[in-house]
Amino acid sequence: MSRSLPSSERTKRSRMIQIHPIRTGSVQFRPSQIRTPGHSPLRWWRILSDREWTREMPIYCYLIEHPEGLFMVDAGETSQVCEPGFFPRWNPYYNRAIRYKVAPEDEVGPQLLRLGFDPTEIATVIMTSMGLGHAGGLGYFPRARIIVSAQEWSMAMSGLGRFAHYPNSHWPKWLAPRIVTFNAGQMGNLPRSQPLTGDGAIYLVRTPGHTPGHISVVVEDAGLIYFFAGDASYLRATMAEAIADGVSANPNMQIKTLKAIRDLAQSRPLIYLPTHDPDVERRLAQRDSAVD
Ligand SMILES: [Zn+2]
Repeated sequence: MSRSLPSSERTKRSRMIQIHPIRTGSVQFRPSQIRTPGHSPLRWWRILSDREWTREMPIYCYLIEHPEGLFMVDAGETSQVCEPGFFPRWNPYYNRAIRYKVAPEDEVGPQLLRLGFDPTEIATVIMTSMGLGHAGGLGYFPRARIIVSAQEWSMAMSGLGRFAHYPNSHWPKWLAPRIVTFNAGQMGNLPRSQPLTGDGAIYLVRTPGHTPGHISVVVEDAGLIYFFAGDASYLRATMAEAIADGVSANPNMQIKTLKAIRDLAQSRPLIYLPTHDPDVERRLAQRDSAVD
């Protein structure tokens, strides 16, 4: 069933880029996961022994309406994470350090329908990472081109993948993503890909650190840079401070990445849109490009 908008309305909207944040439920972390100054090897112990919780943080994915088609940044989370048995019991992180609230109606498929889009119309899904909170809704996009980095895909599918928080046994069997290469020079100090659109407005940049193959999506429109940061940092504030998170695969690399994003944000108006930052909808509505 399609609940698409009337064609006149779609034609009007299709001449411009529109961005829709889609909140697929929420998650609570231990505060020590959000920011971890220094690179202590005891980071995991600190997270597992932390007694505090963050407030409920969003799990966003984003729909980008572009004249050449519909793009998703990430696929959000699945409500299955709230069902018993989804996570392996042997991993204490799932039992002690993360709490999800995702209802079936929070998933990306029903939300796209409510916005007036049939999920099967989505042409491209760009995965900033394959981690929890990002790939759970992929099952709604069997016809889409799904884009991921080579490092992220090999890590996600490796024997270590499940241990390293990639719930790969739950992904659709048909999943066969396109691997993106970063062979088009630099965006600031970040390696960039060829554009995904003929007008050059949408392209990808490498933002390693949180995971080795992490990527971000850049949309340039009307003098603004929309920077879809995934988990490059959880918050704009931790990007501005260039502080690695507590589960970073490579804290030094993450700090280098965050400094490069900060340099970019200080030189051009850039709206920073990570996955779990509670402030992104306000930032988008107000075109807020401040660097905290
Ligand atoms: Zn995340």
